[in-house]
Amino acid sequence: MGIPEIFAENVFNERVMKERLPETVFQSLQKTIECGERLDIGVANVVATAMKDWAVEKGATHYTHWFQPMTGVTAEKHDSFISPKGKDEVIMEFSGKELVVGEPDASSFPSGGIRATFEARGYTAWDPTSYAFVREGTLYIPTAFCSYTGEVLDKKTPLLRSMNALNKQVLRILKLFGHKDVTHVTATVGAEQEYFLIDRAVYERREDLKMTGRTLFGAMPPKGQELEDHYFGALKERVAEFMKELDTELWKLGILAKTKHNEVAPAQHELAPIFSTTNVATDHNQLTMELMKKIAQKHGMVCLLHEKPFDGINGSGKHNNWSVSTSTGVNLFDPGKTPADNAQFMLFLTSVIKAVDEYQDLLRISVAGAGNDHRLGGHEAPPAIISIFLGEELQRIVDSVMHGEKAENGKKSKMRLGVDALPEFPKDSTDRNRTSPFAFTGNKFEFRMLGSSFSVAGPNIVLNTIVAEQLEQFADILEKADDFNEELQKLVAKTLTEHQRIIFNGNGYSAEWEKEAGRRGLLNLRNTAEALPYYVLDKNVKVFEKHGVFTAREIQSRMEILQENYSKITVIEAKTMADMAMKSIYPAVNAYVADLCEIAKQKSDFGADVLGDKELISSLSLNNSAMLSAVKELLQALAEEEKFEEAEECSKFCAYRIVPLMDKIRHHADEMEKQTAKDYWPMPDYLDILFSVE
Ligand code: ADP
Ligand code: MG
Repeated sequence: MGIPEIFAENVFNERVMKERLPETVFQSLQKTIECGERLDIGVANVVATAMKDWAVEKGATHYTHWFQPMTGVTAEKHDSFISPKGKDEVIMEFSGKELVVGEPDASSFPSGGIRATFEARGYTAWDPTSYAFVREGTLYIPTAFCSYTGEVLDKKTPLLRSMNALNKQVLRILKLFGHKDVTHVTATVGAEQEYFLIDRAVYERREDLKMTGRTLFGAMPPKGQELEDHYFGALKERVAEFMKELDTELWKLGILAKTKHNEVAPAQHELAPIFSTTNVATDHNQLTMELMKKIAQKHGMVCLLHEKPFDGINGSGKHNNWSVSTSTGVNLFDPGKTPADNAQFMLFLTSVIKAVDEYQDLLRISVAGAGNDHRLGGHEAPPAIISIFLGEELQRIVDSVMHGEKAENGKKSKMRLGVDALPEFPKDSTDRNRTSPFAFTGNKFEFRMLGSSFSVAGPNIVLNTIVAEQLEQFADILEKADDFNEELQKLVAKTLTEHQRIIFNGNGYSAEWEKEAGRRGLLNLRNTAEALPYYVLDKNVKVFEKHGVFTAREIQSRMEILQENYSKITVIEAKTMADMAMKSIYPAVNAYVADLCEIAKQKSDFGADVLGDKELISSLSLNNSAMLSAVKELLQALAEEEKFEEAEECSKFCAYRIVPLMDKIRHHADEMEKQTAKDYWPMPDYLDILFSVE
């Protein structure tokens, strides 16, 4: 079967709805999807039955409300469609109520204190804007997850709220520019996903990979990524087969998998979809990650989504391409061809510049996590400093607007912001600076700090909200203006001048930039523990509350969940490390040293020179006992860690006490790995792992 035939074959999408729903039901469901109108239970019943019939034809026996709690992975609980009929029979049933709400027991999902004081129950509510689909015999219904008191317990609800907030403010601005035909706007997202593929057999022999998703030990192989021969290189057969199956499965679920290629590091790859609406893109990215793991397994491989599986080798990130589209199909970050479009574009651009500058901390927090700490600030990834890249062409325009350059003919002309029409930006020329964490790439912004395992919900909740905030401020001013054009010019020029410090077009990985950013007063929040407390700053709570995205309580709870999560991951890693050091590395090196001693003895009996042997023996012995005492220190620190009660204190202890001790242990172990004969080393090394897939 061809791709067009299989595309979305397992999705209950508009085409299927049109086919299977009575016209009136279809119309009212469309209204709900497009305008968020409440769904009548009568309509829900009809939809549920049609959905069930369709799903059963696709082989489904169960349904699940599929949601995204704060665990970082998706959750599902499967119920079958069966319902008893008479004494001995069952029928397949699915009601509107079952479609619209579910009641999973919320007590085992992280709620950061919210749950403790309230009922343990939560409910899921159908998100009709993301299509239901069938997978492995189950009908999946995308839902949002709340506590009974209405507090959000998931990532989807605030995302939908932030999209609403943005919609509202963008519409106000568009009205001022005379676009009365636009009924709604949506934030669009395309998430480029990086990942590693390694052989399953090798993976099974690494306790660290199995327990933590990354290697806690490992010396660099003689060949890493220096030659850059892997990037865009020919795909290995097993990888190609994996990718083929992945694409097919994604297409069946209506996911627009588009581009696939090898990445810079050996064993690293990337998949990019065509962009879609933010919440759909979020659901699709979660599904993509799940399918990657599953399909890799079928091919005898393991897909690593950790941000930094290998020290010294590029980590994996996720590029969040973000823009805003109108119901009339216009991309608002596409620079226009006319002076009027140009002014509108400049206003939206300005809103993003101001938003990113004022809420650097929120953007930083949206990408904070134990895994990403190894990447941000590392040599290959964006530094922990947020800045915006505009590119030469756009920078020139911004400069001229700031300096208030008058139009050539001197007349006060319409909508003139420095230039009449913006030049068309060749997309690849705007995208050349790969070192920027937040780059304007022709007609969208690319936020590059996300970790590969992240849900894209978090960063987009922040982006939508902080841009909505700026647009609200702008609309408040502009709606009152006597002379719209003049006020607009003034506003854009003034705002750009005030926030130009956030723009940086140079090399974001250089040491000079760190200093320069410091002079500009930009934040440099180096790790998760340092970043998270900024979440509850007054200005941040205010912006979320004002736009109805989070309550103060929800933010507090989210911060605590993230802090706990960070500490838990760090502790698991530390324990795994201690275990491997004591049970595998220490004895293995001892065995090697014992054999070396025996050989040295025999050699010296024979009269041979054993100076080199002695040096090796003492270096290994020194490192082994240094590792041993560092492990002892680590175990003491871990015992101390258990006594902390405050999530923040605990996360800081992890960052500043546990992590440095882990670095110390690793340093000694990696030194020993370089000096130990391969046969003695108790686990596959980087060479074995990175080149394990033929
Ligand atoms: P690259 O970053 O590799 O140069 P592109 O710029 O073509 O590639 O696209 C990268 C990603 O950005 C893709 O997932 C693409 O669908 C997405 N993208 C393109 N346009 C938009 C948009 N208007 N809104 C959101 N994402 C977009
Ligand atoms: Mg990109």
